[in-house]
This record gives sequence, structure tokens and C-alpha cells, in this order.
Amino acid sequence: MTTSDPTAQTLEQLGVKTLEAVGEKFAELRQRFDDQSSLHFSNRENWQVFLVKWTGRKSGVLSQITNNWLKMASPELKPVVGQELNKLKAHVESIIAERQRAIEAASEQSAAARDKIDLSLPGIERSFGTRHLIRQTFEELQQIFIAIGFSVVQGPEIETPYYNFEALNIPEHHPARDNMDTFYIEGVRNSHLLRTHTSPMQIRTMEKEKPPVRIVVPGKVYRRDNPDATHGYMFHQIEGLAVDTDITFCDFKGTVEYFAREFLGPKTKTRLRPSYFPFTEPSAEVDATCHVCGGKGCRVCKFSGWIELFGAGMVNPAVYGFVKYDPERLSGFAFGMGVDRLAMMKYGVTEVPLLFQNDLRFLRQFP
Ligand SMILES: [Zn+2]
Repeated sequence: MTTSDPTAQTLEQLGVKTLEAVGEKFAELRQRFDDQSSLHFSNRENWQVFLVKWTGRKSGVLSQITNNWLKMASPELKPVVGQELNKLKAHVESIIAERQRAIEAASEQSAAARDKIDLSLPGIERSFGTRHLIRQTFEELQQIFIAIGFSVVQGPEIETPYYNFEALNIPEHHPARDNMDTFYIEGVRNSHLLRTHTSPMQIRTMEKEKPPVRIVVPGKVYRRDNPDATHGYMFHQIEGLAVDTDITFCDFKGTVEYFAREFLGPKTKTRLRPSYFPFTEPSAEVDATCHVCGGKGCRVCKFSGWIELFGAGMVNPAVYGFVKYDPERLSGFAFGMGVDRLAMMKYGVTEVPLLFQNDLRFLRQFP
């Protein structure tokens, strides 16, 4: 407040001595208040300044009148000053309350306008992920076998040596154990390990179920390989097992041919090369004609015309002894496919690490 502000001085200093003069002073103030309050307050700050100017506890106009006019007034003028002050206060408060309500309503309205959803605006596009190439290949492989009556089972990745080796006809000190450098669980060597193949589920399934059995087992397996372009220490397999009273080698060969045609194309031919696995007898490596060159020879098949698909064979009767199946009455076949290798071969991926780096530029090539 400047000193020219009449409320900073006493009535005596202002030369106000009569009741009429008091009324005039209050009328002036009221007029000034009305003028200021009818201004447009473009923002809340200006409105706050206005409020403080009139109703501020310390130096607001109303407080100043109380302190400088009312308290210092002569006894004759005091009652009138008091009455006029009360009237002015009531007026100021009612106008302020009214304006306050208008301001709040306006800001609510603008908030509502801001929040209103404009249905004509374009939506926010969310990008969907795609299934990983390995997952896609798993599903493709499973579907091929589901279509001919196989069902999908899964099993534990932490296994016992019994299920991973012994019951699959791989006794301790068998050389086949050397080919599968095994991760043992620390502190419990010889009691638990990370499965080196999905074959333990052959045993677990036959233990639980009576024949016929027709299963595929997708899953992760672990070996202590040195990771390079074609090997990791973890890879994916899909195991297959079919056991019944009348399964012959012809059924085995027919299933292999069916699979190769479904997976690589209808013109695909297959061949079996003798091999050795402790849990199948006889055992075979299954080759297929190259899906890229059709058998003429190319870079993918290393110019041989053939590509290696997987290892398989007729279930070794010795295995049935571990699950109390009758080897005289039952026969069957089993296979174990490297899913990563099949995916790489089919989709032309040259490096194993690409499958596990989750580089979107790679993954998006397989929508
Ligand atoms: Zn080829």
C-alpha cells in the first residue's frame, strides 16, 4: 500500500470529520472494489493478488480500515465507521465468493473439455511381438506329429542319472556318457544333473502309462560344449516315442518319410544310415534330400545333396526292462531331433548365437 492509499491513514489525517464524509469515503472504496472485481482475471495469479489486496490479514484494505479508521476514529464517528465497515465487508465477501464460484466452474469445464475422448482421433498402435523362430519350429514339429496321433508331454530339465542314463541303457562307464559332457548340479554329483537329452521322458512316460504310447517331448537340454557358431551349451530337442504291440521297422521308416515330406516339402526323399545309440537297436541317422537344391548339391548341403535330419531307431528291448514292459510282446521306435539345427537348416540361419541374442532385426524376419 502506498501512502496515497486512503486506508493507510486515519480519518483525521484524511480530514474526515462528519458522518456524511465517512459515508462518502466508504462509497469511494466500494466503487473502487467493484471496478477492480469486474476486471477479467485471465489467470489464477492475478485473482490471488486481488484477493490479498482486499482481504489480506495484514495489509488488506479491510484490515487497514479496521486498524487505521475504526480503531483510531473519534467516539462520535466510531459506530458509523463500524456499520459502514461491516456493510463493505459483506459486499466484498459476497462478490468474491460469487467470482470464486465462477472461476472454479470455468476451470472444471476446461478440465472436462481436456479429458473428453475424441473418438475420431487415430488410435495408438501397439506393436505386437511375434513367436520366436525356435518356438515356431517347435510348434511346426509338434503339429506334424499330433496330426498322426502323437501327444505332447513335457518333463523336468533337472534329472537323475537314472533317467538320463541308466534306464536308457547307458550304464556308468559306458562310452556314450563321454559324448554327452554333462552338467552336474553342484554338491550333489551323481544325484542330479541337467538332462543332456529329452530321452528321460521316454522312461518317465512308459513308467506311468500302459502301452500303446505315442508321444513327442519338446524341451531344453544341456551339454558342456564350447559355444561356437553351431553349438551352444543349451539347445532344444524334440523327442519322439511310439510303442505298441505291432510296430515294425516299416512303420518307423514310413513315419520318418512322412515327417520329412511335411517338414521340408512333398518331394523330399529320405535315407537311413546305420548308427549307434544305446537306447535304440537298430539305430539310424535319418538324412533327407536337400530342400534348397532338391539333391543336386548346394552350399546348404555342402554339395552332397543330402542333409542330416536326426538320429532314431527301434527301441532297444533292454529299455523295456526298466519300465516293466514286455519286450516279447511290444516294439516301437524313438527319435531325437535337434530343433535349433532343424530351424537353422530350414530357414537358412547360419549362426546359433542369432537364435539367442534376441536381436529384433533378426526376429522380425520370422513373423
Ligand atoms: Zn543342397
